[in-house]
Amino acid sequence: MKKIKDIVRQGVSLKALNYIMLAMAVVITIILSIAMHQTTEIYDETHNTTQSIFSVRKGAYELQQASDYLTEQIRFFVTSGDKTYLDNYFKEAKETKRRDNALAMLEAYRGQSVAFFNLNEAMKESMALMNDEYYAARIAVAAYGYDISDYPEEIQNVELPTWIMNLSSDDKKVEAEKVVFGKDYQNKKDIISDHMQTCLTELEVEMETEQANMAAMLKKQVAGEHILTVILIAIMLLIVFLTSTLVISPLQKCVEKIRDEEDIPVKGAYEIRFLAKTYNLMHHTNLKKKEKLTYQATHDKLTGLYNRRGYEFLMENLDLDTAALILVDLDKFKDINDTYGHDIGDKVLIKVSDSVFGSFRSQDYICRIGGDEMAVIMVNADSRLSKLISKKIKNINETLLKGNEEENIPPVSVSAGVAFGDDGITRDELFKQADEALYRVKENGRNGIAFYGGKS
Ligand code: GH3
Ligand code: MG
Repeated sequence: MKKIKDIVRQGVSLKALNYIMLAMAVVITIILSIAMHQTTEIYDETHNTTQSIFSVRKGAYELQQASDYLTEQIRFFVTSGDKTYLDNYFKEAKETKRRDNALAMLEAYRGQSVAFFNLNEAMKESMALMNDEYYAARIAVAAYGYDISDYPEEIQNVELPTWIMNLSSDDKKVEAEKVVFGKDYQNKKDIISDHMQTCLTELEVEMETEQANMAAMLKKQVAGEHILTVILIAIMLLIVFLTSTLVISPLQKCVEKIRDEEDIPVKGAYEIRFLAKTYNLMHHTNLKKKEKLTYQATHDKLTGLYNRRGYEFLMENLDLDTAALILVDLDKFKDINDTYGHDIGDKVLIKVSDSVFGSFRSQDYICRIGGDEMAVIMVNADSRLSKLISKKIKNINETLLKGNEEENIPPVSVSAGVAFGDDGITRDELFKQADEALYRVKENGRNGIAFYGGKS
C-alpha cells in the first residue's frame, strides 16, 4: 500500500514500466506462438486423419475388388480352360496381394476398430472361398484333361471324390461351374460384401466423429488464440496510452514551458518528474543569478543607487515628457578627499546618497552617474514641484552641513540643477538643461539649486 502511494506521489518509473510491459508482451507472444504451433499440429493431425481414412477406405475397396477379381479369373478359367486366367488368379493371391495389403494397412491405422474386425472377417471369408475356387479349378483341370503337375501346389493338393473323377469331361465342366457360379459360392461372396459394407460404414462414422472432434479442438484453439491476440493488442494499446500520458504529453508541456521560460509542471513518469524538478530548480537559480547580475550591472556598489548604465536605461525607457531631471553634485569634493582621505570621501558619498535617496518619493529613481554626481529622475513631475524640490535640496544641505563628528564625516554641501521634460524632449537635451542649471549654481557659489530657464 505504501509502495503504491509512493508510486502515485513520485510517478511510475519508466524503466520499471518498460520492463513490465516488455515481459508481458514477451510472455503473451510466447504463449501465442505455442498456441499457433499447437493449431498447426491439430491441423496436421486432422489432415493426416482424413488422409489415413481415405487410404484405409481405398484399401477396403481394394480388398473387395481383389476378391471380385479372383472370382472373375477363376470363373474365366473354369469356363474357358485358358490357363492364363489361373495364372492371373495366383498372381493376385500370392504376389499382388491387394487383400493382405489392405488388411495390414487398416490394422496399422485402426487395429482395434469395428471396421478392422469386419475387414478381417471379409478376408477370412475370402480366404475360405479360395478353397472352393481351388476345388473348382481342380475339377476344371481334370475336365480339360490337363496335366495336374503343371499347376500350383494348392490345386494339386485337392483330392477329387471318385464320383467326380468318373464323370465325363463335359459333366466335370458343369460340376466345376456349379461350384463357382452356385448359390453357396454366391452366398459366401455376399457375406464378404456385407462385411465390406459394414467396414466402410464404420469407417465413415469414425471419420465423421474424428473430424468433429478435431474441428471442436481447432475451434477451441482458435478461440484461445483470439483471446491472446486481443490481450496482446490491449497491451500494445496500454503501452501507447502510458507512453503518451507519462512521456510524450509531459515532454511536450516541458518544451512549451521551457520556451515560455516558465516552471515545468511536475507530471508524468518518475524520470520526467525528476527532470522537471531539476529543471525548475536550475531555472530558479538561474533567474536569481540573472537578477543579481542585472542588479550588479545597473547598480553602484558603493551607494546602492542605480549606476550610469542603470541611469541610461531609465532615461531610454521612461516617459521624459512628464519627468524632471535633477543633477546633484558634491561641492568641492576633491578637497574632502584631499583633506580627509579617500575612505572618508567614500563615507561622505554614502551619506549624501542616503540623504538624497531618503528625500525623494519611492517612485523616483536615484542614480550615481559620476564620481560625486547623482541624478534624480522624478516621474510625473512638472514645474509645479519646483518649490518642493528646492525644499528637499535645502533640507539635504542643512543635514549635510552638520556633518557627523562620531563618524568623522565633515560638513559638506551639494549643488543641484533641475530641468523639466517637455513634449518630444530627448534625454541628451534634458541632461544638458539640468547640467546648465547645475553649472549656474556652481558659478554662483554652490550649496544651492537652479532650474533650467529660471533664476537661481
Ligand atoms: P566642484 O564643486 O566644482 O564639483 O568641485 P569638486 O572638487 O567636487 O570637483 P569635481 O566634481 O570635478 O571632483 C570630483 C571628485 O570626486 C574627483 C574625485 O577625486 C572624487 N571621486 C570620484 N569618485 C570617487 C569615489 O568613488 N570615492 C571618493 N572618495 N572620491 C571620488
Ligand atoms: Mg563636485
